[in-house]
Amino acid sequence: MTDPHSGFGLDHLPYGVFSVAGGARRVGVRHGDRVLDLAASTGRPELATPSLNALMALGPEVWRQTREEARSLLEAGAETLPLADVELHLPFEVADYVDFYASEHHATNVGRILRPDSEPLLPNWKHLPVGYHGRAGTVVPSGTPVVRPRGQVVTSTGSAQRSTGSTSDGRAVPTYGPTERLDIEAELGFVVGTPSSLGDPVPYAAFGEHVFGVVGLNDWSARDLQAWEYVPLGPFLGKSFATTISHWVTPVAALEAAWCDLPAQEPTPLAYLGPGQVRGLDIDVEVELDGEVVSRPPYRTMYWSPTQMLAHLTANGASVRTGDLFASGTISGPAEDQRGSLLELWWGERFLDDGAEVVLRYSAPGTGGGRITLGEVRGRVEPARVD
Ligand code: CA
Repeated sequence: MTDPHSGFGLDHLPYGVFSVAGGARRVGVRHGDRVLDLAASTGRPELATPSLNALMALGPEVWRQTREEARSLLEAGAETLPLADVELHLPFEVADYVDFYASEHHATNVGRILRPDSEPLLPNWKHLPVGYHGRAGTVVPSGTPVVRPRGQVVTSTGSAQRSTGSTSDGRAVPTYGPTERLDIEAELGFVVGTPSSLGDPVPYAAFGEHVFGVVGLNDWSARDLQAWEYVPLGPFLGKSFATTISHWVTPVAALEAAWCDLPAQEPTPLAYLGPGQVRGLDIDVEVELDGEVVSRPPYRTMYWSPTQMLAHLTANGASVRTGDLFASGTISGPAEDQRGSLLELWWGERFLDDGAEVVLRYSAPGTGGGRITLGEVRGRVEPARVD
């Protein structure tokens, strides 16, 4: 039977934060094209708050009870609001934000583009999930416009005054201006609920005790800024201007049927990164640009799993906090139409114009036998703000 709620049935029930007519923000649950006011219908104070953090901090047993309560309320015919009548907000207060680089196909493609004369994967890549700390304060909800960032760039294919990028003796000389290589990265984000203690690594097997849910995520990237700044310390201003996440957080519990084996890892990673066969999530991604689907990256083709990313993120004893967000890195499959960035899809030839609109969509097997639809991630490019 087709799911009458098109991906948002009782087997999904993602959480979000909403308000009505400028009223107080509170926690809701999406069911079909309607929203259950979970704060009002349960009377629980941790749900009458403008973020999911209070609920997320309470841990897996409370998450399980809350999910059951929402389901029971909906089954009993609780009053709900039309989605069209509510305003959706950033669903949680982002604590720290870390972005990984977990797709072998993406890392290989980017290596070939940026370092055509050397091995595409660096020696560390198959021993640890490579990542960097991003900027939590510029994580924005779906629909937030993305202003074309400005910064230092060396090469240019566009404006005449920025076209040389080097002196006559070959030294690179940067100029300051709007990026001409604005790109997307189709990713998934994992949201930490239960914190960990400083000094104690989170074991590989403890993923479910700490991770509350999953969001769609677009790691907007300015490739020209990135190419000039990233050696030797990694991404900085080429990434930090905006990261868009979905309004809806899909509980990890709704993805129980989506766990699958990932491709075999060779060489075998160190023991703290898990035992043998690695499990990941079978989530399909769709990248739409200006109304046209340009790519369909499969998350099941990733090399490093989210469980390994959390174990590695805390392997030195660094603690995680409620609201921490760690992202997968660009999701790219082996085929050309499965690439999760325009850099790879168009091999550096073309990037986003002002006015371009990108929508990321995600779906996964649901526990009820059908498919669930994760929250979409939408963003439109606005022109650079010039003095
Ligand atoms: Ca990224």
